[in-house]
Amino acid sequence: MDVAIVGAGFTGLWTSIRLLDTDPTLRVAVLEADRVGWGASGRNGGFCAASLTHGLSNALLHFPDEVDVLEREGVANLAELVGFVRAEGIDCELEETGTLEVAVAPWQVDELRDAAELATRHGHAVTFLDREAVQALVHSPRWLAGVRAAPDRCVMLNPAKLAWGLATAAERRGAVIAEGSRVRGLRRHAGGVRVEVDGGGTVDAAQVVVATSAYSGWLRRLVPRFVPVYDYVLVTEPLTPVQREAIGWRGREGMSDAANQFHYFRQTADHRILWGGYDAIYHPGNRVMPAHERRPATYDLLARQFVDAFPQLDGIRFEHRWAGAIDTTTRFTVTFGETMGGRVHYALGYTGLGVGSTRWAAGILRDRLLRPDSPLLDLRFVSSAPFPIPPEPVRTPAVELMRREVIRADDHEGRRSLFLRALDTLGIGFNS
Ligand SMILES: Cc1cc2nc3c(=O)[nH]c(=O)nc-3n(C[C@H](O)[C@H](O)[C@H](O)COP(=O)(O)OP(=O)(O)OC[C@H]3O[C@@H](n4cnc5c(N)ncnc54)[C@H](O)[C@@H]3O)c2cc1C
Repeated sequence: MDVAIVGAGFTGLWTSIRLLDTDPTLRVAVLEADRVGWGASGRNGGFCAASLTHGLSNALLHFPDEVDVLEREGVANLAELVGFVRAEGIDCELEETGTLEVAVAPWQVDELRDAAELATRHGHAVTFLDREAVQALVHSPRWLAGVRAAPDRCVMLNPAKLAWGLATAAERRGAVIAEGSRVRGLRRHAGGVRVEVDGGGTVDAAQVVVATSAYSGWLRRLVPRFVPVYDYVLVTEPLTPVQREAIGWRGREGMSDAANQFHYFRQTADHRILWGGYDAIYHPGNRVMPAHERRPATYDLLARQFVDAFPQLDGIRFEHRWAGAIDTTTRFTVTFGETMGGRVHYALGYTGLGVGSTRWAAGILRDRLLRPDSPLLDLRFVSSAPFPIPPEPVRTPAVELMRREVIRADDHEGRRSLFLRALDTLGIGFNS
């Protein structure tokens, strides 16, 4: 095998496609522990954003010299992603609606206005909406203001369907996808790498790409790079025409609120509302397991918050609920690296914004393997690493403290404590 890719989420699947589009003669295998799209890729909110940097202000904080190029790359990446979906005929319910972010507390109104001005200065097509204007668009007594952004910065889609479509596209190009193949370890072998699979099987490859996101604890050297945090989602029953009329929202924009602990919500193709976010839960020891997806208190809280936002829909049933693990880094952006003398490359750490940016990261992984002279590899965004996260037993209290401080900021009109401001100065944060 020329390249073995571990993980069949967006990162792994896009990497196989981008490698084979560049060199169709490559022999590429994708080894997936469970099923295609089983991880975050098949269970996220479906906001496919242009931003590679978890937003503009985060880019300005961490990569001020590279903002323009990262913004350009992000917009081009999203346009290419949409073009690919259309060209390949992938039915993933893609809707070019753009987004609408709303203020749900007075302090967020000024923040949104400032954010809109900043975005406009950087060429985004955004509009600030006052209370009346935003409530006219989507009827909720809670919205105090909003910022609407054009679809060149974000489209909505059904992520599981995208993952399945990418798998078909990868196989059409010659990739072999092996589901039910959990990788246990990697060993140097005969100038390449021996990939050890659960059950005793092995795959020998010249190079390996690790694309296991929040589940990357199996490769010990990745543990300081990320923390897995669980994010929770509810989906309502389909809304009746009367219920749809009652909330407006004809533009079907992807919506979110502007709190630190924020909700994201959108309409599905079959007229349900997907409502997720708010809690971001870390389990000691970087543990990821299906048991963590069951958290009744969080689902109940989300349901109450939904009715608070849309009192017209009181009594609606939630027919689906699920959770997934997000690979959070201290600077909220993907991090790249290599080990075993350049035979193994990895990309992880999208921090809740990987639906679009995984395709771009896959291009970087492709360049690392096939085009080492690509100028993109020299970006500090690509070549530098985020501030490492300490090991246990310090990790759990550190994450908890940051989480509590972020919640506290929401309760104190957005004012960040001395502790959070000190971390901001060091470029360390906690987000989902
Ligand atoms: C609830 C939730 C909501 C989100 N909402 C959004 C959103 O609206 N917009 C957005 O941009 N981003 C969102 N995200 C983040 C986004 O989904 C991720 O950034 C993105 O899907 C990461 O893709 P990935 O391929 O790197 O990882 P994953 O999709 O997690 O794929 C990793 C794969 O590796 C496999 N694997 C793990 N260990 C092994 C092993 N040892 N051997 C073999 N295979 C292994 C897993 O089974 C999995 O399929 C959300 C995430 C969650 C959890």
